Amino acid sequence: MSSKNNFYYTLQGYHKEVTGSNIVCSIHFPNNVERKFLIDFGMFQECEYEEKNKDIDFNIKEIDAILVTHSHLDHVGRLPYIVKKGYNGPIYSTFLTKLVTSSILKNSAKVFQSNYDKEKNYAKDAEPPLYSLDDVEDALSLFSICRYNESFEFDENISITFFDNGHILSASCILIEATYKNRAPLRILFTGDYKGKNKFKEIVPIPNEIFDLPLSIVTESTLCEDTQISYEPTFRDSIISCIEKDKGILIPCLAQERFEEVMLELKQIESLGYTLDICVDAPLATEINSIYTIYSNINYMPSNVMFVNTREEREVIFKSPKKRILIVSSGMGDFGMAPLYLNNFLVREDYEIIFTSYLANYSLGRKIMELKRFNKIRIPGHKDTIKKVAITKQTREFSSHIHCDELIEFIKKFNNLQNVIINHGCFDAQENLKQKLEANDINAIMLGTNKFHKILSSGEISTFEIIQEEKKTETVKPSKKSNLDNRTIPCFIRSNSLVKNY
Ligand SMILES: [Zn+2]
Ligand SMILES: [Zn+2]
Repeated sequence: MSSKNNFYYTLQGYHKEVTGSNIVCSIHFPNNVERKFLIDFGMFQECEYEEKNKDIDFNIKEIDAILVTHSHLDHVGRLPYIVKKGYNGPIYSTFLTKLVTSSILKNSAKVFQSNYDKEKNYAKDAEPPLYSLDDVEDALSLFSICRYNESFEFDENISITFFDNGHILSASCILIEATYKNRAPLRILFTGDYKGKNKFKEIVPIPNEIFDLPLSIVTESTLCEDTQISYEPTFRDSIISCIEKDKGILIPCLAQERFEEVMLELKQIESLGYTLDICVDAPLATEINSIYTIYSNINYMPSNVMFVNTREEREVIFKSPKKRILIVSSGMGDFGMAPLYLNNFLVREDYEIIFTSYLANYSLGRKIMELKRFNKIRIPGHKDTIKKVAITKQTREFSSHIHCDELIEFIKKFNNLQNVIINHGCFDAQENLKQKLEANDINAIMLGTNKFHKILSSGEISTFEIIQEEKKTETVKPSKKSNLDNRTIPCFIRSNSLVKNY
């Protein structure tokens, strides 16, 4: 390799779509030192990829540090698992990310356990919990706190800076900068999930000089699909219409910030003169809400909110003819209290169900939305199938993601942009963003899962395809006791097969 090319970084992604966010960034120095960072280590939430939650397709022992962009489960959900499997290096995040992540992960461990306890009664192959509360505590003990706009020296050649991000209260963009003697620096900015503004906090601006640096950006593309999806606000009209028809409403809701956004909207409906009878059965949302009430800039809670804490209170709600607004987590319907409430209220004509978030392929929410009325479904954790009677709706107005054109406007602010590497979106969304960036004369590639990218300080990219050795499947059920610790997926690199230089 020529000396010009011996200072570079590589990027490899391990998730195809929106959830399960995890990227390995390896920085290679001319003196043969290599530093490996894992950016986020999230849960695969689509049922389609659930099995992948147990896979760690890189050598854990080679990871020098984990950088966490924000506390959504699809970005932090497997941190206890990698720690359980042997990772014991630092995990860097902001203070609020650590605080909320603590609630998220503890809840996640409890949900795993309780789902397992329920499901094992009906399914012989029920999966044991991915990790325990002890694993969560072990992961939390590795966190180090970073402040916005304050670079820290990871070592003498690498500095890392967190920037504020409006995606949710605790979100960040993260810049890694590597220097070596008189070489041009390597810089890469991970946007995490990005939004330029936030209803609950003032954004600390990214300093102007950052926009002048030569760098590459790794960006999400969640909302970049070129579809007819409507982001028009419909929630308020749906709620008012139900109240006026004396119908109750069940709202599966993301625990983090979506809950606060829904509350803010309900407060505004209340201010129009409607009396709302709101019950919240979402322990995680309630816990995170207590953090928001401290750190938010606004008062968003409606006046008449009851928090459900016991099985008895729940039973009263299920049997009551009273029409309430019931808010339960989780947003896609698969976890938390949602399956229980969906099992009780999907069969009721006097209730409507409003999903307030993106529904991933194969999520319970997506299945329910796609199910024709009066057809049957079995809700996980329940033995019998039930009929879908309630009218179901979905609104996308609350997205914490930025829309495609706004994302491109943000990216165009960088005056010396070298490349954009696209991830965290369905294929069509990634492709659409790529085309739109290229139409703006911005080099763009898709991160992908079966290839890795080598990037020089000049921004020159080479892409290598990884061909996994065919797995023998005829005899094998994967052993539950298989030791993933030291496992590396055997692979062959077809050198230069997909090289694309810019
Ligand atoms: Zn997110
Ligand atoms: Zn995400």
